[in-house]
Amino acid sequence: MRLRAAALLAFAVVLAACSPAKGLHQERLYVFGTLVDVTLWDVTEAQGRAAVAELARELQAEHVEWHAWKPGPLVTLNEAIARGEEGRATPHLARLIEISQRLSRESDGLFDPAVGGLVRLWGFHSDDPLTGKAPPSREAIAAWVAQRPTVGDLRVEGDRVSSRNPAVQLDFGAIAKGYAMDLAVARLRALGIRNAIVNAGGGMSAIGQREDRSWRVGIRHPQGQGVIAALELGDGEAVHTSGNYERYNEHEGIRYGHLIDPHTGYPGREIVSATVIHPDGAVADAAATALVLAGVKDWERIARQMGVKLAMLVDEAGTVHMPPAMAERVHFTNETPPPVKLCASL
Ligand code: ADP
Ligand code: MG
Repeated sequence: MRLRAAALLAFAVVLAACSPAKGLHQERLYVFGTLVDVTLWDVTEAQGRAAVAELARELQAEHVEWHAWKPGPLVTLNEAIARGEEGRATPHLARLIEISQRLSRESDGLFDPAVGGLVRLWGFHSDDPLTGKAPPSREAIAAWVAQRPTVGDLRVEGDRVSSRNPAVQLDFGAIAKGYAMDLAVARLRALGIRNAIVNAGGGMSAIGQREDRSWRVGIRHPQGQGVIAALELGDGEAVHTSGNYERYNEHEGIRYGHLIDPHTGYPGREIVSATVIHPDGAVADAAATALVLAGVKDWERIARQMGVKLAMLVDEAGTVHMPPAMAERVHFTNETPPPVKLCASL
């Protein structure tokens, strides 16, 4: 009898070794200048660990490659452009330029990664908190605007990049996270993982689902702490939120946000945050930035031009603007939901 029990036990151990338990695997990484939460479903512990280690390596390499002010390939390219010389782009940088040229056109230039010089002028090319610094002079801003650098000034041939405007300084801060989160879930798929969500602060990309339901995520509240709404992300969807609450400088009682309108040279004011759901994370990220700057009057048109159907804006007064299709997706978390102004379908 005892022998049989022992045999059964041994059999169970062998079985467990053959098919280790699958379930949830969660890890938090500090990469890409931010916290990135990786959640995998239906994986073994070993699979999960290996996949996350691979992602951490890739994200760290991308962070160096695309950084706008720390030494790396993008800084080297920007220096060549400033000297009026031809520069080199890595395959990812060439692709980022190509995608950005289209998104810049479609957003009437509100999203434009050629704003590096302007972002630097406003003091945002720094890891330090900015509160208290005086904004740049009107003259300095006007001088930048007069040069009109745009990503459309660049010409890419293979890995060679030239600019007809030496004032172009690339800063992919408004699109890099979306692009990177999409690369991350593509890598996970390639590693055989079918259900995952990768979340880097204001942006996330999902594949598959968790157990038998879609991934449920929170949208950060633009004023104050916590979450304003929850929504379900379908397989292959990304959601990004941009807002002037994320980073800002405060001088003499006025807040200057880090999203800057390239046409005026000044930060946007009317919209405090924009959230966009789109199958392409890079589009969702860039569009969220563009919609903050578009303002109440123009955001619907810009969203349509960018191929965005699902978006939600919060204005300075706290009113939420969105089309009916977005309202169906969004569940406000507070007992007293914010005032909502439904617009036409996008
Ligand atoms: P977050 O960093 O909160 O995800 P965004 O995706 O909106 O926010 O990116 C903001 C960053 O994009 C800024 O810190 C700056 O580097 C850059 N940026 C600011 N204004 C623009 C603009 N009009 N077009 C493109 N990039 C911008
Ligand atoms: Mg963005």
